[in-house]
Parts: sequence; C-alpha cells; structure tokens
Amino acid sequence: MQALTPVPALEHLTPHDLVTYYRCPYEMELQHARPGPHGAPARIPMTPTEVVPLHRSPLFDPPTSRARAIEGRLDLAPSDTLIYLDEREDGLPVLFPPERVRIDPAFHGGEPTLHDAELGFSGRPDLIVRRADGSVYPIEYKSTHLFLGLHEAHGRSFDVLQAIAECRLTHQALGVRPTHGVILYGDVAGDGAHEGWVEVPYGDAEERWLRVALGQIRADRTRAPAPSERHCSGCEPNALGLCRYAAARPDHPSPHRAPLLLAAGGV
Ligand code: SF4
Repeated sequence: MQALTPVPALEHLTPHDLVTYYRCPYEMELQHARPGPHGAPARIPMTPTEVVPLHRSPLFDPPTSRARAIEGRLDLAPSDTLIYLDEREDGLPVLFPPERVRIDPAFHGGEPTLHDAELGFSGRPDLIVRRADGSVYPIEYKSTHLFLGLHEAHGRSFDVLQAIAECRLTHQALGVRPTHGVILYGDVAGDGAHEGWVEVPYGDAEERWLRVALGQIRADRTRAPAPSERHCSGCEPNALGLCRYAAARPDHPSPHRAPLLLAAGGV
C-alpha cells in the first residue's frame, strides 16, 4: 500500500502581512525574520542574495471602486453595540458608553486574535460593532487623518485590503458575514479637524480577492524588494539597517540600527 503524502501546512499570514507585502515583499520577509510577539519563531528570508528589485509589489490591487471616504464623526446609531475590543491595542477611541459594550460570547475566552483555519490566516480588528438588525462590521482605527487629495489612491488601496481581511476574520469568528468594514481616522494631531472613515464593501468579489492574494503571496518564492522613497523611509527593517536595497533612509534612524549589517550588504 502506498504511503500517504502529508499535506503541507499553509504558511501562516496576517492582515499586517498583506499590507506589508503590498508595500514591499522583501519587507514582509525581513519582518518575519525577527522573533514575533508571544514567542513566534523567526523565519529565514527566502529572498535570494542576488535578487533583482521590482518597480512595485506584484500583489494585484484590491477592488477599490466601491469604497467610500466620508468626513466627520463615525455614523453610529443609538442601538449599535460594541461586541469586540482588542485590549492589546493602546489608544483606541471610546466610541460607546459602558452600557453599550456587550462583548460577544465568542470572545469571552480572553484571546483577542481571530483565526481563519480554512485560509491559514489570523489577526485582530480593533473593534467590532453589532447593529440592531444583527449585522456586524469590524473597525480598524488609525490616529492619522483621512487620506484625501494627493495620496487618496495610495491610501485607499491599503484601507481596502485591511478592511477586507478583517471582514473575513469577523465572518469566521461570528458566523455572520459583514457587508462592509470600516477604517476610522481620528486625526489626533489635528484635534479631529480632519477625522473621517472609509467604508469598504465586502462581498463575493472582495472575498475572492483575499483568497487569491493569500495564494499569490504563498506562491512567491522570491519576495523581491520593491524600493520606493515613500515606503523605504518608513520601513522598520530599514531603520534597523537590515536592507541594502532601500531607496531612502529614515530621517530618524533607530538607536538599534546595525551599521555592520549595512557594511556587509545587509541580510
Ligand atoms: S527598505 Fe525599502 S526595499 Fe528595503 S525592505 Fe524596506 S521597503 Fe523594501
């Protein structure tokens, strides 16, 4: 009798990986090469030493045409309740009074990470809201201002892929498929003058994009750098001196920067 070949485990990915890979695949590899929180082991980057840098990440764009950017305070109804809160996240806004915080039993175990066993995917939205009709939607909070004007197209794609990922995780956790996700901008530096939110519809097309995107990342055995001034200047591994392909160095290098790695050609 022929021995059964074990099915290889899916490479574990998170919404953060999607965002990072969309900026630069090599940045995701360098992030994975550092020990993760809660004892997650470091991985060896698969990027070959003599890789040819790309002009942009190969991840195809998420469907953005139906996303809506809305200025002002988030539109919450008096009957809306907060059913999930990522307590590991500092600085989240208080959107609900205590009597409207009713954590769903699905989250009573105390572990805030939401898992999707089918897609090998996990992560944490900041908040999940339940409406009076039983529908739910996740919120990702950002303290910056709403992207409008110059960086609109750039910012919108990042919003959309993060919201899609969190909608899928919310669906898996609660068994209720959100019709949309929200990225909420608090504009802390501007005292809320340019706060707002982006509403990202979530349907078959968006879920399909997520499935294909995860497959595309897993199939990429090169994970090449995609240097650009904007991305490299805010890249954490770059601040640590771990990338020799950077198009720009951060204005304020980390005190942990490793000049020897740079001198030796980086990782
Ligand atoms: S410094 Fe630039 S090229 Fe290097 S990993 Fe970061 S974003 Fe990619």
